[in-house]
Amino acid sequence: MYDINQVREDFPILSRQIYNRPLVYLDNGATTQKPRCVVEAMVDEYYNVNANVHRGVHFLSQKATDLHEASRETVRRFINARSTNEILFTRGTTESINLLAFSFGEAFIKQGDEIIVSTMEHHSNIVPWQMVCERKGAVLRVIPMTDEGILCMDEYKSLLSERTKLVCCAHVSNVMGTVNPVREVIAEAHKHDIPVLIDGAQSTPHFKVDMQELDCDFFAFSGHKIYAPTGVGVLYGKEAWLEQLPPYQGGGEMIKNVSFEKTTYNELPYKFEAGTPDYVATHALAVALDYVSALGMDNIYQHEQMLTRYAREQMAQIPDMKFFGPSHDAVISFQVGNIHHLDMGTLLDRLGIAVRTGHHCAEPLMHRLGIEGTVRASFGLYNTREEVDALVAGIRRVAQMF
Ligand code: PLP
Repeated sequence: MYDINQVREDFPILSRQIYNRPLVYLDNGATTQKPRCVVEAMVDEYYNVNANVHRGVHFLSQKATDLHEASRETVRRFINARSTNEILFTRGTTESINLLAFSFGEAFIKQGDEIIVSTMEHHSNIVPWQMVCERKGAVLRVIPMTDEGILCMDEYKSLLSERTKLVCCAHVSNVMGTVNPVREVIAEAHKHDIPVLIDGAQSTPHFKVDMQELDCDFFAFSGHKIYAPTGVGVLYGKEAWLEQLPPYQGGGEMIKNVSFEKTTYNELPYKFEAGTPDYVATHALAVALDYVSALGMDNIYQHEQMLTRYAREQMAQIPDMKFFGPSHDAVISFQVGNIHHLDMGTLLDRLGIAVRTGHHCAEPLMHRLGIEGTVRASFGLYNTREEVDALVAGIRRVAQMF
């Protein structure tokens, strides 16, 4: 494992006080804090390198382009994709999924086709598909789950048919911490030659993901959830699929030749990257990925598993504690008695403890669970057992007030 105290020193924000109490930041599922090296990489690039990428012959433009393209290679290595042609830079998971929904929808979805999602998807892996279905007259089908927050695999298998054109599934539930059996999800779909998109927003920060091992066709994740800046994310796609998809947006970068009669498109990955990319953020993403790689994704996983198990054990001893889902990984959703999630979150905040409350952008999941919202504590690589103790003491204190 790693030295947690030393790691915490890499994150300046962790030493600040909130309402005169030490910050206990347990909202990592929403976004993570940034290590000094990531922020400094951005400042350094703006101070010393800044120039637009890809179109300059001058020194700075070439230097910025080198950093940007080196980042693509860092991402490729990090997720073990075959080629940098398979790494598309986007603004985040949401844009990655919207890109795919538009392009895949244009090329492959027609009236009567079906797209499968699961009950526990984030809105960003539901709404873009609903929009495609509306546009094309296709049908959205939903994999059900058990009361415990586990996908019903038999029902999933029976949903697959010749009408199914795509399966879209979260790797890890942002609400319940369920780690879905995505390898099985993918293998079953592939038996019918159906491609699969995995939403990796909540898996990539917590354990090693390997595109060649998973064999998914598409995979999306956000930089800001893995210690990188906001505004940058990735869509991975197998080259054979990306070659067949039309561009998402038109503009500079994505073209080979433009005339008023006919425009031809650039090669991969640029065909999908219209306009000036956030090249400072892509560079900083690579710095963040190098940072977590140096700590070791397996070490991060062990540390967060330890924290999650410890927190579940301690919280289970609080009277009237109810958990939602299995918390396989770094996420615990709960309610205590009939204390409203918003009250719990607001009062914890006064103790310096940052958690998230509400539907967590998963309203269909809330409907399935028969609730309006939960309180969610989510862990990152810098959280400690003492912070779990502070959370547990905070919940007890709030419960006593009611
Ligand atoms: N998918 C999941 C599972 C998420 O948890 C989130 C964000 O919370 C998203 C997608 C959307 O990510 P972003 O807002 O970074 O695009």
